[in-house]
Order: sequence, then structure tokens, then C-alpha cells
Amino acid sequence: MQAAYFLGNKTFEVRECPIPTPGPGEVVIANKACGVCGTDVHIYHGEPGSADVTPPVVLGHEYAGEVTAVGEGVTALRVGDHVTVDPNIYCGQCEYCQNGKKQLCESMQAIGVTRDGGFAQYSVVPVSQAFKLSPDLPYEWGAMAEPVACCLHGIDIAGIRPGDTVCIVGGGAIGLIMLQLSKLSGAAQLLVSEPNAKRREAALQLGASRAIDPTDPQQRQSMLSAADVVIECVGNTPAVQSAFDFAKKGATLVLFSVPKVDAAFPLPLFDVYKKELTIKGSFVNPDTHYRAVQLLNAGKLDFAPIITHRFPLTQMPEAIAEQMGSGSIKVVVCP
Ligand SMILES: [Zn+2]
Ligand SMILES: [Zn+2]
Repeated sequence: MQAAYFLGNKTFEVRECPIPTPGPGEVVIANKACGVCGTDVHIYHGEPGSADVTPPVVLGHEYAGEVTAVGEGVTALRVGDHVTVDPNIYCGQCEYCQNGKKQLCESMQAIGVTRDGGFAQYSVVPVSQAFKLSPDLPYEWGAMAEPVACCLHGIDIAGIRPGDTVCIVGGGAIGLIMLQLSKLSGAAQLLVSEPNAKRREAALQLGASRAIDPTDPQQRQSMLSAADVVIECVGNTPAVQSAFDFAKKGATLVLFSVPKVDAAFPLPLFDVYKKELTIKGSFVNPDTHYRAVQLLNAGKLDFAPIITHRFPLTQMPEAIAEQMGSGSIKVVVCP
């Protein structure tokens, strides 16, 4: 099989290697589609991912495929099942694992980050990490279970009430998933702030009530103090500023994006006090993968306007570059 190994230093090498065999409790998956995540882009540039990376390793943690072999003791899945992977494997022994906050685990392993993942023709994973997809679901949609699961954790944290006005700052793949999940959570008004016209168009297609260009002063003015819940999905200072500007009194702000490690923002202390703001962070997908798969299998989410580009395994640098560019929303690699 072919596998695109990340060697560090912005370099991939496609290697020919043996198809893995499953150990007890493991399944082998023929990987069919794997999303390029912002985390992959960070790792490519030498920044940390959700966990530390030691090259050479096969990246790719948003993927789906078909089970081709099952190890001893596997009863939940059979050869031929379509599955998607929850990449995060928790230690089960640390204070956080033992206290209901497994996502904050002190020694988390992640498929496609610390161990070989989806940018290869096959992968081997513990059966506990594989979730069964409907056979009718396109693999590239199944690959989106991981970002959906992460967004679900953010949505759980946001505490949207039916009837709320929700503002999504950023109309990339994550923002457009958040938009759909906010709608499913009962938001009455769905506002999107996004400078890129193509992404605003996708937001409207996916149910946004309004999509504004935050760089246009008049449009920006119209969104000030508008939202009960603001979900920030960009990760730079202007976007966080927008999140504060668009928050109504009493609002909850979820800072969901993955910023640069040294990113900082001057907190408007008086606003937090006078507007009684609640500011929350969200990290990965504790126990949300199952629900993500149920939403996908039930056809509750649409990825047609979100997945814009597809690349073969041999074009990893091009796939990463396209994901970083403004012409794409979500790039998928098809091994
Ligand atoms: Zn991801
Ligand atoms: Zn732990």
C-alpha cells in the first residue's frame, strides 16, 4: 500500500509499505477519504497539533473507509462495514480521565497525530475508535464526523436555547458545521460574519439568515450587539474582536478556533463586567463522536457546499496549500 509519511520540515514522502494486519481488538480500514484539517496545516508548519508530533508519521485524523480485516475478539464490526474514526485515545488513568474531562487527558494519543492515520491507503485502529457509517453515506461526508464531533462539544458548551440569535464568526468548514448544528439546536436567527464572498454564499445556502462582510463598516454596524451566542471559528485577533462586538448583553462567547500558540487578545474587562459576558473554550470531542455519526447517518448535515477540493495521496503539499488558500472551504484527500 501507499502511505504519505510526514517527515517534518514541510515534507511528505509517499512510501510503499505492507498492508497492516489487525492485532487483538483492532480493525484494518481501507481509507477512502481523509479531510485536511487546520491542525494538519499547523503540524505541517512545525506548530503543535492536539498532541505532540514525532515524524515520520502518517497524518490525517478526519477519515472514513471500509473495514477489510478484524482482529481477535472484535464483535462490533465486520469486513465490509463502512466506518469513520474517532482519532483521540485517552489514557484512562490521569486525573482528567478519571474525573469526566477525558479531553484534557495528560497523555492523549491521536490517530493521525501521534500514530499513523488517514493519509494512507490503509490504517489499523482499536475497534473502540471506529464508528459504523450508513453504507449510503458518501465516504467524504463520513470523514467529516471528526470535525462535527469537535463542533458538537463546542455546541454543548455554548448552551444555545431554542429561539436564540446565534452568530458564527468565520465561514470556513468549522463555521459552516457550527451553523448547521446551531440551526439543529433551535436558533431562531443565524448570523454569519465572513469576509470571503464564496464562503458567505455557502453559509446562505446552508441556512444562514444573514451573512455579512465584517470588513464593510455598514454591514458590521448592523451586527453590533446582535447575538445571544457567538461562536468564533477563525483564530485571529480581528475575529475575536468581532465576537465581542457582536455579543449582546448576557451573551455567551465560545472561542472555538485553534489560534497560534502565542496569539493574545486584550480582554475588554469593562464589557465582560457590564455586559455580563460568559467566555468559554472548547477542546476536541469528548463522547461526541457517536452523536456526530448519528447526525450524518440521519442525513441532518450537508457537506455539498463545504467540500470543495479533492487530491490524491501523491499531492499532499498541494492539498495543504489549497486548504490554506481562500479559494477552498474543505479539502479532502482520497487515498
Ligand atoms: Zn481536525
Ligand atoms: Zn488521561
